[in-house]
This record gives sequence, structure tokens and C-alpha cells, in this order.
Amino acid sequence: MLVLVVNCGSSSIKYQVREVTPEGSEPSTYTSSMPAINENVPLATATAGMAGGEVVTKGLIENIGTSEIEDHTQALEILAQRLDEELGGRTIDAAGHRVVHGGERFSAPVLVNNEIIRAIERLAPLAPLHNPAHALGLRAIQRTYPGMPQVCVFDTAFHRTMPEKAWRYAVPEDWYEMHGMRRYGFHGTSHDYVTGKACEFLGIPREQFNAVVAHLGNGASATAIRGGRSFDTSMGYTPLAGLVMGTRSGDLDPSVVTAMLERNPEMSAQEMNRILNNESGLQGVCGDSDMRAVQQRADSGDQRAQLALEMAAYRLAKYVGGYHVAVGGAQALIFTAGIGENSPAFRALVCDQLGALGITLNPALNEHPEGDVARVSAPGSAIEVLVVATDEERAIAEATAALMWERVKN
Ligand code: AMP
Repeated sequence: MLVLVVNCGSSSIKYQVREVTPEGSEPSTYTSSMPAINENVPLATATAGMAGGEVVTKGLIENIGTSEIEDHTQALEILAQRLDEELGGRTIDAAGHRVVHGGERFSAPVLVNNEIIRAIERLAPLAPLHNPAHALGLRAIQRTYPGMPQVCVFDTAFHRTMPEKAWRYAVPEDWYEMHGMRRYGFHGTSHDYVTGKACEFLGIPREQFNAVVAHLGNGASATAIRGGRSFDTSMGYTPLAGLVMGTRSGDLDPSVVTAMLERNPEMSAQEMNRILNNESGLQGVCGDSDMRAVQQRADSGDQRAQLALEMAAYRLAKYVGGYHVAVGGAQALIFTAGIGENSPAFRALVCDQLGALGITLNPALNEHPEGDVARVSAPGSAIEVLVVATDEERAIAEATAALMWERVKN
């Protein structure tokens, strides 16, 4: 099955076409499901037993909304034309969309219809930059590829299994009831995918698997995995909470925000939001947001870069300790995404602070992890430390294919 994986932003569309094939001939061998906690909605574990995920083609269409490309429909028409040329007569079977916010409603991938698109639009207050763009992309594909099935895979869905004590904020109840102020969590597709990969690698049944996953890219989050599901996660109402990130502050005392607004009466909420999202984190502390640059500066003796690194590693180490307790003892610590997969120095900086949990790295393995899933801990380490290559597009392609095959079966 050829799946077009799309990530529609307000001014760009990232896409990949993936070939997905079921392993074995029986449809029942490539999907499985497990009930979500406190929910009647089944949570699909779409990747189980799937084969393939091979990239056929990928690319980026930029500058939507400029004079060159007027809108998402025109961008999708350009894309369709490109794909016609590149796929040599093969047609796309379905589209899988990355959707940032699924609110409280979506706990699994869904097949798209007009009502689903309206629901994604209604969630715009929770993700004002992303959800409206996703809805535009969904409608544009409806127009460009009439009748083609579309599936939405939500960044928040994996975290719908968190218990209420983990997702509630200790604020007046009507902030939650009236305004939806609660922890949602993000990067769910990645946390879910690498958890599955780690279970396979370690030979532990998913429902018995407890772990801490550190997804460390430009945006970064840690998730506590208990019984194979999300039990807690560091991002919150928005992706601003939790770890020290490239340009985001992560956790801070809310009084910092109110005090800064009081001292700068001309500062708007939007401006505050921009500073905390775009000018904080590593960038705020040392003036660079890219981990490679920060590490190079730290290696050459730059004190601010060194401090930024230490702050990011210390914050993560505290989360690992907390989540180890939250899951009742983690069997594995999993590093993934740009920094998690590619920076032995950052992994070492974090793990050096986790001696109290009995974690020890094997320095040689940590320096050169091999393959998509690699063990980098020493044989005597109380908790396995793994480096797992994430692949959100593959997870989306497989979830999309699984829903298609499920539809055929029924
Ligand atoms: P992502 O958002 O997953 O693409 O990750 C981006 C982050 O990964 C940036 O901070 C990069 O500097 C960082 N990164 C990528 N490769 C390396 C590397 N070899 N060493 C350190 N950081 C890296």
C-alpha cells in the first residue's frame, strides 16, 4: 500500500510516500488493539507485525500563502503533479496526516470525514498555529484526490492513557472545565513507536514494560511508560513545559511570567509567549539553540554553553528519577530524536547523574551505538539504556495502512 504521509504547517507541507506491506497474508496478523485506561475507545497499536515503511519519495513544499503558491489546495495540486511524475504510474492509496492536537477526544488514529475535520478545527484554541493548517491540508487533499481515504494520527493521542493525577493541574476546577487547562503531552507518535521498538529488542511483552523515554530534538519531552502506555509526560497544556529545549524554557515558576508582565506593562501575552518559546532554553542561556553548536562551544571552554548543557542534562536527569518512581521502577531508559540519537556526550552527561539508580553506561557502546535499536548501558547497569531511532513518518504510514486494512476486513 502506498501511503502519503503529510505534515501540513501554515506555510509549508512536508511529505513522504511510504510503501507499507502486511507481514503474512492474514489481515489479523498486522493489527492488534488494547483497551485504553478509563476509555471505551480502543487504542490501536498499529505497528505490531507491520513490515515495510520503505520511503518511496519525500520532499517539502514551502511558501504557501505567498504570491507563488496561493493556498494549501494549490500546494497539494503541485504535490500531486510531482508525485505523478515520481511514482511512475502508481497511485497513492491513502493519506496519513500528522495532527498536533487531538484534545480530549482522540486517543487513536481516525479515518477522516467532514465531522472529524470540523472537530480538528474546533481544537484550534489549543494549537492555534497547527490545527487550522492541518484542517486546510485535509480539505485540500479531499479536493485534489477526491475519494481518497485519509487518516489523522495525533501527537497527543498516546498520552490519553495518563491517570488524572498526572494530567490535572492544581488550579481552580473551572480552568479545566471551562478552558481545557490540563496536561495533554506531545511527541506521542514518537514515544509510542520507540517504546514498541524497545520492547521488541528486549523481548519484554509491552504490557509488562516500564520505562522512561527521552525524545530529545529541538523540542524535547520525557515520558513515563508504565505497562507499555503513557503514564506521565513532561510537556503540558502546550509543548512549552518540561525539559530545557533548544529555544523553549521548559518548566519555570509561573510567577516569573506574571512578575515580568507586571514589570513590563507594554509586554503582551503574545510577546511573552514568543520569548518563552523562541528565545529561551539553550538559546536564552548561551545564545545558541543548536546542540551541536552548544557542544562545540562548551568543548572549547565557553562557560555559558557549558552551563546551558548542564542545565538541560540536570533537568532531564531529575525527570528520569521522578519517572522511575512514577512507573514503579523503569526497566529501560530510552534516548531518541536528534540529540538523543546523535550525541554521546549529552547521553553521558545525563547518565553520569543517574548513579543513584544504578545506571552505568558502556562508554564504547555509547560512543558508537549500532543499528536502529542499540544497548549503550554496561552489563551491570540496573536499568538498560537504549538508543532507539525514531521514525514518526513510518509510524503514521503504518497506522494509516492498519486502519485501511481494518476497514477492508470489516
Ligand atoms: P530533531 O529536532 O530531532 O531534528 O533534533 C535536532 C537537534 O539534534 C539539534 O539540536 C541538533 O543540534 C541535534 N543534533 C543532531 N545531530 C547531532 C549530533 N551529531 N550531535 C549533537 N547534537 C546533534
